[in-house]
Amino acid sequence: MDKLSRRDFSITLGRGLTSAALLGGTALACANTNTQNKTKLGVALVGLGSYSTGQLAPSLQVTDHCYLAGIVTGTKEKETIWKQKYDIRDANIYNYENFDNIADNPDIDIIYVVLPNSMHADFCIRAAKAGKHVICEKPMAVSVAECDAIIAACKEANVKLSVGYRMQSDPYTNEVKKYVKEKTFGEVTFVSSDAAYISRGNPEQWRLNRALSGGGALVNMGVYSIQTSIYGAGQNPISVSAQEFSTRPDYFKDTDETITAQFEFANGAVAHMMTSHNANGNRLKVHGDKGWFELEPAHSYGPISGRTSKGNEIKFPHKRQQALQMDDFSKHILKDTVNVAPGEMGKRDMIIVEAIYKSIAEGGKKQPLNLGRMGIVS
Ligand code: NAD
Repeated sequence: MDKLSRRDFSITLGRGLTSAALLGGTALACANTNTQNKTKLGVALVGLGSYSTGQLAPSLQVTDHCYLAGIVTGTKEKETIWKQKYDIRDANIYNYENFDNIADNPDIDIIYVVLPNSMHADFCIRAAKAGKHVICEKPMAVSVAECDAIIAACKEANVKLSVGYRMQSDPYTNEVKKYVKEKTFGEVTFVSSDAAYISRGNPEQWRLNRALSGGGALVNMGVYSIQTSIYGAGQNPISVSAQEFSTRPDYFKDTDETITAQFEFANGAVAHMMTSHNANGNRLKVHGDKGWFELEPAHSYGPISGRTSKGNEIKFPHKRQQALQMDDFSKHILKDTVNVAPGEMGKRDMIIVEAIYKSIAEGGKKQPLNLGRMGIVS
């Protein structure tokens, strides 16, 4: 079986969320992974699609604190290919049906869920119930309620949780945060962020199917614009207004094509974001009252490129973001360092996503946001 059918999926999702809902009444579970004497943690990838194949597995060959230990796939042929390519033990190969047995496998410390968005909650909750630490790909889920269920399940099982926000481990992101914090270009007044690409592929793909994706460009690339708007401004927004546009309604039947949104911040600063599945955009520009800086490309796998109003280039040696990201999470587990992309960050972004869709549904009406410092990691 290549894919979980929609029917199977709704059954498993129902089971996952029901179990999450029940978690509150159960005794406190414990992480089912003994990482105490380990220097490298075993990662199991769930879903061997293009991101796992092209980015995560190669990155796990160059990580210092974790390695590719296992796989979970619905495709029999992939079991053989991955086993040979990455020397994976038979005992560490699972399918979607026997996935829960992973609880008994001491080789697996971290389960990384890389499935279509609407399947994240079910598999993250099951991973937590198996006592394993969890990385959930972005967007964290398809609703705030699902984010809450994942966070609750991880808390109940006493396992760590992070979102696959690779940019949070990229040195360029830390540089942006530093500029804003140290007011290198003065007080931030205006942020502009675009994260977009043109989709011309199979119209049946899951990203264009709302039941599987939870939305279109906004949940796919838009979460990057939300993230850069926030770290570009150095704070969470207090309101958002949004607009949706479509020039190819026959192709984008079920999901949003292009969305623009404006964020207001407590100090009067403003951010404008654009995301699209029908235009290209990959840029962050931050204006302060003493100058500006810009990253373009700003959200790709790298190398990122940047410049400032002082005439200098922003430049760091290129490293695989996904390797940095998985090492950061492993260090968080092994050495109690900061979790740079915690579940609360994924939940905060989903609160903003829901507010953007609400604003669009209400003709662009401004939606207040009451986020405080939620999800801000300095
Ligand atoms: P993909 O379509 O290439 O792979 C999806 C995988 O899920 C495949 O192995 C497929 O067989 C499996 N699957 C199981 N049930 C399915 C179903 N009912 N329908 C469709 N596929 C099903 O997708 P991808 O690009 O690898 O994306 C997977 C996740 O990773 C998504 O959440 C996406 O947002 C995220 N992602 C993140 C980044 C990033 O930069 N952080 C980049 C790409 C993708």
